[in-house]
Amino acid sequence: MTTPCIITVAITGSVPRKENNPAVPITVVEQVESTQAAFEAGATLAHCHVRNDDGSTTSDPEKFGRLLEGLRKHCPGMIVQFSTGGRSGQGAERGGMIALRPEMASLATGSCNFPLRIYENPPELIRMLADLMREHDVKPEIEVFDLSMLYQAIALSDEGVIGKPLHVQFVFGVKNALPVSRDALEFFVGQLAKLAPGATWTGAGIGRDQITLNRWSLELGGHCRTGLEDNVRWDAETLAPSNAALVARVAELCGEYGRRPATVAEARALLSLPEAGWGGGRRAWASAKACVAFLERRFCSRLDRHGSPPPNPPPSRGRAFWLCDRARSLRAATHPSKGNGFR
Ligand code: MG
Repeated sequence: MTTPCIITVAITGSVPRKENNPAVPITVVEQVESTQAAFEAGATLAHCHVRNDDGSTTSDPEKFGRLLEGLRKHCPGMIVQFSTGGRSGQGAERGGMIALRPEMASLATGSCNFPLRIYENPPELIRMLADLMREHDVKPEIEVFDLSMLYQAIALSDEGVIGKPLHVQFVFGVKNALPVSRDALEFFVGQLAKLAPGATWTGAGIGRDQITLNRWSLELGGHCRTGLEDNVRWDAETLAPSNAALVARVAELCGEYGRRPATVAEARALLSLPEAGWGGGRRAWASAKACVAFLERRFCSRLDRHGSPPPNPPPSRGRAFWLCDRARSLRAATHPSKGNGFR
């Protein structure tokens, strides 16, 4: 059986504006509506930037928060990926929304030239963003705009800075970065399979080459990205009517290559993400861990007095429950009059 195809919809980006295509969603309400239609057309992963209402770029965590809330409500189970790209913020500001705990966030693992500027991703920023993602249980999508970025991602994952298995996106057709080259894609895919076994990948093409990369990715066993962020046109003469229309075109294309769009459950399994909803053990574990870290920070001086250094958690199953118990005992130790409840 062939691998189902995860269709990513990149709904807005940082560059296209209403003047380029009125269907580009700008406000959070428009973004949720556009993503819901794309979800119903077969997309299972939403790559998201946010904008100010005048269309200018921003990394405002409050907007990301409202978008996440809307997507969780209207696109149940869809994988939400926030952009940490450099057009909408500087330095640490680019990771300000990671604490909201989307399932994924983009992570470029090197610098390159863009059409009119340098896309700056210095080593310390890459590590800072990767550390934040690990801390908040957010899976990175490695954005590869140049070959060195692939090798850097593999080195970081071997070092444990980025978790395994890797998910990589190969981006072709950005002016001054990688040209659209089938040979290059095949080489990248070969290197990924050899050096990062178990990794998954998506091909992305910019502008008229969006569909080219969709076809090559389907043929070579990868996953597809489409959406108005990368391409506002349907063909040479007409604008794309919507994100949903672009997704439907890729969903249709899957059949030509003996593939089909992945379901939400399949997409999550392919990317080694937990199942949707509270049932995901990893998310339960992470939430409990964050709760205990907060309590420990808040009550550390009292903990010193009580002399209760945190023991190691049990290795796998039951870790979240163990942490809940630990949080309760911390609470009881530091607020004996309030018992061990969470209030
Ligand atoms: Mg982007």
